[in-house]
Amino acid sequence: MRLTSTSATLFVALAIAGAVATPGRLSAAQDFDLVITNGRVMDPESGLDAVRSIGVRGGSIAAIEPGPLRGRTVIDASGQVVSPGFVDLHRHGQDDENYRYAALDGVTSVFELEVGTPDVDAWYRQREPGRLVNYGVAIGHIGVRMAVLGDTGDFLPSGPGASAVATDAQVAEMARRIDHGLRRGAVGVGFGTAYTPAASPWEVLEMFRVAGRHTAPAHIHVRRGVEGVQEALANAVATGTPLHIVHVNSSAGNDITRMLALIGDAQSRGIDITTEAYPYHRGSTRIESALYDTWERMTDAEIAEITWVNTGEQLTRDSFARYRKQGGSVIQRGGRMENVQIAINSPLTMIASDGSQLREGRGHPRATGTFSQVLGRYVREAKTLTLMAALRKMTIMPARRLEARIPAMRNKGRITVGADADIVVFDPARVIDRSTYQRPSLAPEGITHVLVAGTPVVSNGRLANVAPPGRAIRAPIN
Ligand SMILES: [Zn+2]
Repeated sequence: MRLTSTSATLFVALAIAGAVATPGRLSAAQDFDLVITNGRVMDPESGLDAVRSIGVRGGSIAAIEPGPLRGRTVIDASGQVVSPGFVDLHRHGQDDENYRYAALDGVTSVFELEVGTPDVDAWYRQREPGRLVNYGVAIGHIGVRMAVLGDTGDFLPSGPGASAVATDAQVAEMARRIDHGLRRGAVGVGFGTAYTPAASPWEVLEMFRVAGRHTAPAHIHVRRGVEGVQEALANAVATGTPLHIVHVNSSAGNDITRMLALIGDAQSRGIDITTEAYPYHRGSTRIESALYDTWERMTDAEIAEITWVNTGEQLTRDSFARYRKQGGSVIQRGGRMENVQIAINSPLTMIASDGSQLREGRGHPRATGTFSQVLGRYVREAKTLTLMAALRKMTIMPARRLEARIPAMRNKGRITVGADADIVVFDPARVIDRSTYQRPSLAPEGITHVLVAGTPVVSNGRLANVAPPGRAIRAPIN
């Protein structure tokens, strides 16, 4: 490069400044625990998109520099993108097997905010002193309702939790338990009114009232499409509760454009409402749940499009009836892929996996391929999303959704000095999901390195054998 007189003067000034700063800087630079060099650093919060070196110290990002940095461990990210680790607001698989699937897909923080848990203290206690990735949970109306009404179903209600109308005393007891969960640091309040059809509008409003008192976000699987969003929106506005509509892709079906317009209109009027989507046209749920209360009206052909997860078999009218008595996971019939694409491409949606729990590798491929699929198929192949827009949906949008209640989230979902070193390095030319309905546990390709609090949990595309660096993400306890 030829130096003009102006840039030559600047160069001299910088050299002097650099010389003065050298002693401190060099010794500090040698102290970095880990350095990521030569990568294209993309931070959707600031808009930074440039080759930078990142220095990590003590689990945090300590330096972001155009020039080289030195550290004890160096990751060469040449030709790759360095992004904040992905934040997944909706994942039911919350055990070690499923945390591994999340990490391999670039996810560094996972939340169970739809079904949640009825016992917040026990949920966090089970995961002490830490897991592979960061984790958090909501107090769940579904589980609380099951406990209060004596529903013994596994995970989702199949008895009175779904079908019984609660007395005023029972509603008051549910409200008390939700309030207790929030005082114990639950991230939000989970709702699945589609799974609790007997919960009266008044009962649901009472639960929103508790959430509103804590300004805790309500994450809700709505009933009945647009009408369900209207119900949730009315409750949120009346009680001052931040509202998050889960998996708008599957809840909206053919109403996707209308439902997104409703959410967008409310947002533009200043209402705190957000939503999320996952990139699959088939969903997954429990066969004994209320979603299949009218299953007998399905045609044989419709039933044949449902898969029993345990064996991979397609169901018949006979086997459906038998398995519904037994209970277990199914993969649902597919909706239209165009609806899913509208949901993923909308600037309103965050990406969230709804990763149902894979057990010994059996389940829905969304648990392993959600984030890599959006990067590979929407950004690179279809080019309907820019890379920065896709990363925004995976990082800063979900972090901001939670940060009013969870101060720790202000240090996640971004690459900035002082942020947690939750980082993903991926090859934008190669990243792709590989999991399928037949082989749901196949890890994606092209996600090279994943750091949680500065510790590599995925190295060169493989799980690293490390002491689990992931920590509880919890609201302040009061
Ligand atoms: Zn879900």
